[in-house]
Amino acid sequence: MPCLRPLLSCSALRLIAGTLGLSFLFSLPGGSVAGAVERPASSVNEKLLAHQSVFQPPRLIRVSEHVVVAYGYTMSNIVMIEGDKGLFIFDTGMRVEKAELALAAFRKQTDKPILGIAYSHGHGDHTGGVRAFAPDGSAIPVYAHRNALRYLKDINSATSAVFRLRAVEQLGLILPEGIDGTIGSGGGPVVSMGGTVSYITPTHLFDEEVEIDLGGVIVRLFHAPGDLDDGIAAWIEKDGVLLTGDTVVGTHTYPILSTPRYEKGRSAEAYIASINHFRDFGARHLVGGHGLPVDGTENVAELIDRTHLVARYIMDETLRQINARKHPAEIAAHLRVPAHVMGNEAFEDYYHRLNWIVRGVYNKEMGWYSGDTLDLIALAPKEYASKLIAALGGSDATLAAAPQAYDAGEHRWAASLATQLLALDATNDAALSVKANALRAIAYQSDSANERNYLLSEADLMLGEVGLKVIAGQALSRESAFFTGPTIPDIAAAGPSSAFIQRLRIRADESKASDDALSVTFVITDRGETYPMTLTHGVMIHERPTLREADATLRLDHRALVLISDGHMPWEDVLDLPEVQVEGDNEKLHRFMNNLTWND
Ligand SMILES: [Zn+2]
Repeated sequence: MPCLRPLLSCSALRLIAGTLGLSFLFSLPGGSVAGAVERPASSVNEKLLAHQSVFQPPRLIRVSEHVVVAYGYTMSNIVMIEGDKGLFIFDTGMRVEKAELALAAFRKQTDKPILGIAYSHGHGDHTGGVRAFAPDGSAIPVYAHRNALRYLKDINSATSAVFRLRAVEQLGLILPEGIDGTIGSGGGPVVSMGGTVSYITPTHLFDEEVEIDLGGVIVRLFHAPGDLDDGIAAWIEKDGVLLTGDTVVGTHTYPILSTPRYEKGRSAEAYIASINHFRDFGARHLVGGHGLPVDGTENVAELIDRTHLVARYIMDETLRQINARKHPAEIAAHLRVPAHVMGNEAFEDYYHRLNWIVRGVYNKEMGWYSGDTLDLIALAPKEYASKLIAALGGSDATLAAAPQAYDAGEHRWAASLATQLLALDATNDAALSVKANALRAIAYQSDSANERNYLLSEADLMLGEVGLKVIAGQALSRESAFFTGPTIPDIAAAGPSSAFIQRLRIRADESKASDDALSVTFVITDRGETYPMTLTHGVMIHERPTLREADATLRLDHRALVLISDGHMPWEDVLDLPEVQVEGDNEKLHRFMNNLTWND
């Protein structure tokens, strides 16, 4: 087995393979295109590998008399709280099959009924396993903060496909497991490709707090915005256990004040306020959404205090440097958290890099303008690339410099040069090879699991080794395969119809503009909602419902609306479904639909 230039010794690599149950695949040939480079030898950053080893094996951890954590079964922790009358499940993991394994482990300890379930927040790694605990037909209450409904709008919005792509890349869902691909997410073990992602719309929404009596044990759920504005935490006073969701975690990762995925519902100040509130409880045990439980009043206080200090420092140091008129890229490149602020809590880049968090904080405060007026007058990327490449001596010289930089280990610069070449010709094979393999080389050395996953995923995408449809299928499917039939994912079924109307709206195509306006009223029969839509000059509007009389009315249920707006089933076929009825001018309805764009 070849073992070329790895960061770790061959014996260490074998150890990884043994631990993670992985197959090796070293050094694929890079092709014979002139200027192309070879794929770097696969390897793993040793520090990151040690960090990831903490998330296995899957096991139950008893936190206190009434609280047990299913740890390492899935990306996030699943917590069971036991009272005399029954059980409460706080967070459900990411996939049904993994959550079923956790439930089976719980069932070896107790056969009491499940009295309720709560989502610490709306992210899929905490909600996706819910059907394991509340199978179809059961009427188990599902608790969440009221803002869960707002998040359902975000996650189904017009840009959700790109948002999901970022999530899929971040988690490494499309990568092989192990040394060639993902070794986990920084906050949990490897998330497997297959499996069922489920969702149940919360049945019990609350604003401030709610108490659930399990018989002798009371679970107090309270609003604690963090990762999202629907964040909640749980206090089990009897045992002194605080469940903090993703706001304070025992994973030695920086507080996630922002993410490259970008989330409308994440506020750094709200996040910090929640951390501050956690200190009030004097908890004896803390269980975060990820990582090992923390035991002992002093240890819990230290973790909360240091997370608080570090979050506040990152926030305020960014603000100070904004006021010093520093460029965001400069702030991000140089901001460090001083050791005396961190104390003994060793926060590291294992999850999101500190510099990404700083960029996110800057962006939410100040937007896209860096303060450099060049931003206001910038050349378009292609024009910039053309002039830069000319200044570098032309395409051939740049094409020679890129692999040289790669061979010299200047991977970021190699990728930058290749990016300029690709701006001129996106199909330049040599540039694609340099960029993709430079990303891989950086990934293999990275101590950030998310950086590793993002870069390796992009490299595979760039070289056509995985298709966007595969990614979309991973992100959306209930059962891995890209959904094609008349079923829709749970998360889409739970989403507001207005989100799918928005998705339909952006199918308007001004190049197909016709002189006449066309109006179709969509009546969502199972939700009692009506959306009058007018297509005029290739723009679809629904803000002025009285603009003109409807040419046709389409009566359909939410599921049919999802099928149409997502384009996963041809709209003509959806119109043939028994629950869809057309009234009015059928020819104009067809013209309306034909004037939209469907080629995705
Ligand atoms: Zn999480």
